[in-house]
Amino acid sequence: MLHPWLDYRLGILLKKCAKKRIYLIITEGYRSKAYQDALYAKGRTKPGKVVTNAKGSTYSSQHMWGIAFDIAINDSRLLYDHAMLKKVAKIAKKIGLGWGGDWRSIVDTPHFYLTKWGSTTATLKTIYTTPDVFRKTWKKKVKRSKGLLLWKAQSKLTGCYLRIPNGATVDVLYAKGWYMKVRYRGKVGYVNRKFVK
Ligand SMILES: [Zn+2]
Repeated sequence: MLHPWLDYRLGILLKKCAKKRIYLIITEGYRSKAYQDALYAKGRTKPGKVVTNAKGSTYSSQHMWGIAFDIAINDSRLLYDHAMLKKVAKIAKKIGLGWGGDWRSIVDTPHFYLTKWGSTTATLKTIYTTPDVFRKTWKKKVKRSKGLLLWKAQSKLTGCYLRIPNGATVDVLYAKGWYMKVRYRGKVGYVNRKFVK
């Protein structure tokens, strides 16, 4: 239920952290409107502490757009240990993720997100209106009778993984210049974006 680009980066983050013997638990990913509303009610109309300032009806949580996840350290003594989360954040930022620990209004150290649309959901709301519309842009189809090569790098010098057949569906990570970064059958690479619709 996460955006393919975030899902891909989450995989990298888990691997890089494991190399440093930091093991993570994913505690939150995609949130539906109903779930976000239930969280918003906590500490307001329902018992407990306030856990979010984002209402479901306004789509103002990044989780509702599938562009954020929350983590904890997989060690009962260190779950939300600040120094450990900071170490994770350092690795996450190197692979291009945003960190809720850098926010000023509500510091949210277990929260990581895609930064392409800024640190709020305002831009997403302007472009796509609702998460359902946004989600439809995550998958596209190859439209080329002879299929489309999936390159290992933008330069094309390192060769390609395979030929994606005409009509096949790919997960869209992002588009830039001539190419689109996509995932197909577990391989992440680059295709000519002209032939992906
Ligand atoms: Zn979060």
